[in-house]
Amino acid sequence: MNAPDQANYWQCECDTCNGRGLGHFALIENHGKRTDAAFRHSFQRLLDVKEGLFRPGLTSADRRNSWI
Ligand SMILES: [Zn+2]
Repeated sequence: MNAPDQANYWQCECDTCNGRGLGHFALIENHGKRTDAAFRHSFQRLLDVKEGLFRPGLTSADRRNSWI
């Protein structure tokens, strides 16, 4: 299936991915390094979510609605 317009949806700007598509994990042959990179990516993205949830000035309703 050709879906070139969707390619940018899967690019990640975290420190681990550095703008690459998420498919770069599949190119890491060493299992330990692949697992480490995937973990670092996930951890960084979760930190981003946490920072978004705890931005100053947000109400509890803002935080709840940010998941919608
Ligand atoms: Zn990433």
